[in-house]
Amino acid sequence: MDNPVWWVPRTISEKTGNIPQGYIGRTVEEAEASCSVAACELRPDGHDGGCYAWSGTPSLILRRTVARSKPVHQQSLAEAIAKRHRGARYARLGTIGDPAILTRDQVVAIRDTLRDAGLGMLAYTHGWWDRGHHLKGLVMASCDNLEEVDASVSEGWRASVVLDADGPAKVRTPEGRRVVVCPAQRLERVDCNRCGACDASRPGPVIGFRRHGAVAHPRWKRRLAVSRYIHGESSGVIAKELGTTYVSVLAWVRDAGETVRPPGRPRKRA
Ligand code: SF4
Repeated sequence: MDNPVWWVPRTISEKTGNIPQGYIGRTVEEAEASCSVAACELRPDGHDGGCYAWSGTPSLILRRTVARSKPVHQQSLAEAIAKRHRGARYARLGTIGDPAILTRDQVVAIRDTLRDAGLGMLAYTHGWWDRGHHLKGLVMASCDNLEEVDASVSEGWRASVVLDADGPAKVRTPEGRRVVVCPAQRLERVDCNRCGACDASRPGPVIGFRRHGAVAHPRWKRRLAVSRYIHGESSGVIAKELGTTYVSVLAWVRDAGETVRPPGRPRKRA
């Protein structure tokens, strides 16, 4: 199988930090197919109608690249490494798409190339139990619920899980495993590049992601958040009052075509 992964050397994502991003699928159809192979419930034609990647910026970048209305060159891993931000410590494989369609050798080659460049790899598969099973030890198991977390960890996976947007702060699985909510969703100055807890080649806790993006909140809430942000309120205050995270607020702002302010620059309400 040839390699369907292409790379973007830098990103403006507050969530990940400025790190190389690997897209799985050279076309929209190929990326969608990888999510279907992994039987992800959040795939575009799945029950929940699209995860953050499919309803947000990664999907736009993929479609823009393929449509070439504003071409983004599909770069190789070597190009991405050469052009990366000098502060990058990790790379994200699977910004959109699921690595379950890759062979273990392909993922090992990506991991080793990144390692040689001094970078760790952050990646997840929804197909940990089936079509992505060959990637154990390389990527995180992406779980739909806490029971699945117990099953995957018992099998030797590092696991992550989707949590309710407004759920309790402290979460444990039925078998008593503690779930640590992703620090990038809790703390203003943490991103994946600083955290690295989802590097599945190292031991670590179960990581919980509060639902964000279009699937977690009704349209009125997203519109209200964007409106308040462009009128000068901080993403942190809006997030607290609307029961979401500042990362989600900033993602909604971007998805609405508005500009995200640099950190530490609150604006007065107009
Ligand atoms: S736990 Fe750390 S590495 Fe994983 S998604 Fe959150 S910030 Fe990124």
